[in-house]
Amino acid sequence: MPEFVPASRVTRIKSSPSVAAAARVRELKAEGRRILDLTVGEPDFDTPQHIKDAAVAAIGRGETKYTSVTGTPELQKAILQTLERKTGQQYTPAEITIGGGGKQVIFTAFMATLDQGDEVVIPAPYWVSYPDMVLANEGTPVIVSCGEDTGFKISPEALAGALTERTRWVILNTPSNPTGAVYSREELAGLAAVLQDHPSVYVLTDEIYDEIHFGEEPITSLVAVAPELKDRVLVTNGVSKAYAMTGWRLGYAGGPAPLVAAINKLQSQMSSCPSSVSQAAAAAALTSDQSFVRESLEVYRERRDTAVAGLNAVDGLHCWTPDGAFYAYVNCVGVIGKTAPDGRRITTDEDFTLYLLEAASVAVIQGSAYGLSPYFRISCSTGLPVIEESIAAIEKAVTALV
Ligand code: PMP
Repeated sequence: MPEFVPASRVTRIKSSPSVAAAARVRELKAEGRRILDLTVGEPDFDTPQHIKDAAVAAIGRGETKYTSVTGTPELQKAILQTLERKTGQQYTPAEITIGGGGKQVIFTAFMATLDQGDEVVIPAPYWVSYPDMVLANEGTPVIVSCGEDTGFKISPEALAGALTERTRWVILNTPSNPTGAVYSREELAGLAAVLQDHPSVYVLTDEIYDEIHFGEEPITSLVAVAPELKDRVLVTNGVSKAYAMTGWRLGYAGGPAPLVAAINKLQSQMSSCPSSVSQAAAAAALTSDQSFVRESLEVYRERRDTAVAGLNAVDGLHCWTPDGAFYAYVNCVGVIGKTAPDGRRITTDEDFTLYLLEAASVAVIQGSAYGLSPYFRISCSTGLPVIEESIAAIEKAVTALV
């Protein structure tokens, strides 16, 4: 067999570390080990019944064919209403796009805009996929480290310092995966003021976790704070997290018509459209009773409070309180340099997460995967008993370090 040589875009990127972590957990479980899995990036709830019913009804009506690239009229209407509710801005059908998950929408947006050497500013810690999506599309990720001093958020000064003539995009992710940080109205206004001076820079604001936020006010979108930027902001979202619909693969975005047209042109050659059945389900999710969203938020809140309090009680760990999403980003600088009972030294956050997996059977993801060390991410998309048991196991493992 001839040696297989992949395209350079494949060798430039790595597989998603969270997908790799999930595979490792599956392997260990298959070996019969009981693993407390805090790596999972998807809600543990089932998709609400009324959403499943809407999908079944669509199948019954024969809605099993290609749709237009931009989706069924029902889904389009639902997205337009949703974007208006979330941003306070009106979008037209020419300004929205859909895809197989928010992930595909973001990937296609980069594919539609990046040429070799174009820069994308990515605040770290970041969602693991952003840099590789940029690299896969010939762009250059420009990573801006944002530590606890700025609440893991990019400041106007840091943003101004990162912009160059080659900057095509800035990514904002609010609430953030992995930190749960949320940009306030004032913080967004500060960033908008910098962006005013750079009229060719586009902003991708990834708001996929916007329904999971613990503050009083809804999440503020950059376009709500700075409507004058609307013609260069792509708001991306999807139904995966808010409605426990990760497997349905349906994401959407609102942005300027020329950008959306370019995305849709690519989409027309790549997938034609996302699944018609998922479109019906997503339309039902966005337009029907939202009590599932409110109820799951309260469950996440209880888990977050338990996780944060428990982790902060562990000597050597420090956990910042997330304002949204279902993750916590835990500072583990206090364990770096220590030695495990088997004599192995913990020198990085990756060493520590491996130690936790071996010594405590707790699976978490190392901060290096998200571009800021030494930290680890836990996911609270698992039941309270597992979170409590995990914290007790983590505490025991940390106490055993010398
Ligand atoms: N953005 C962020 C920050 C995410 O964490 C995820 C899912 N892990 C996505 C986008 C994509 O979600 P989906 O493709 O399921 O819509």
